Amino acid sequence: MRTPFIAANWKMFKTVHDAVVFAKEFRAVVKEATGVEIVLAPPFTALHGVAEAVRNSPVAVAGQDMHWEREGAFTGEISAGMLKEAGAEFVIIGHSERRRLFNETDATVNRKAVAALGAELTPIVCIGETLEERERSETLAVLDRQIKAGLDGLTGDQVASLVIAYEPVWAIGTGRNATPQQAGEAHAHIRSRLRQWFGAAAADQCHVIYGGSVKPDNIHELIVLPDVDGALVGGASLDVRAFAEIVARSRQSAV
Ligand code: PEP
Repeated sequence: MRTPFIAANWKMFKTVHDAVVFAKEFRAVVKEATGVEIVLAPPFTALHGVAEAVRNSPVAVAGQDMHWEREGAFTGEISAGMLKEAGAEFVIIGHSERRRLFNETDATVNRKAVAALGAELTPIVCIGETLEERERSETLAVLDRQIKAGLDGLTGDQVASLVIAYEPVWAIGTGRNATPQQAGEAHAHIRSRLRQWFGAAAADQCHVIYGGSVKPDNIHELIVLPDVDGALVGGASLDVRAFAEIVARSRQSAV
């Protein structure tokens, strides 16, 4: 059985001070949390401070993006090695905001995933359809394209170690989460494609988490679905109590 995996995506919120205050308070609240993987993805500036604040606790840290090159003349970018040095163990790749606002493509997602794995960072690869794509009944085809191109060339072992976040774009930051039926169908499809393209072990071990308006009051109905292994949480992760509650309910639902 896969351990529930709950990640906070803080996007462009929280100063270093606010992020470290959150991390210290949150760490105290979840200090006994076993049987769950917890990750905080602060802005780059706060990564090191948050990593220090959660050191030797059940909480790990992620970058929100990265460049695929190790170093070079890429103003404004940050490499996997730099994230790792700052204390990250994970990195979010291909979030829909980066795809939509910063021209991220399946090809760049793939280059980043390969580079992250090469630097021993675990990628949290985001996939998901827009509202228009869902209304045109293209959801499963979009997921197929994003999985195939985004994970192109990865081995079964590498896919086994990954986290895939299914985030329907229409559910992110809108307060409108996917119904258990919609999420269940997408997650089962993703799992079956992983099995088909990367093998049974990869499909069984890869964490496939849901993202899109997850809150304390809807986490249970999602996490009990057989192919939903956790959540990527935006808005509700900015509040210590709300995020800790999501973690607690995920653990309860998993036992
Ligand atoms: C996200 O940013 O990945 C996300 C799921 O945001 P929210 O929880 O606010 O919908």
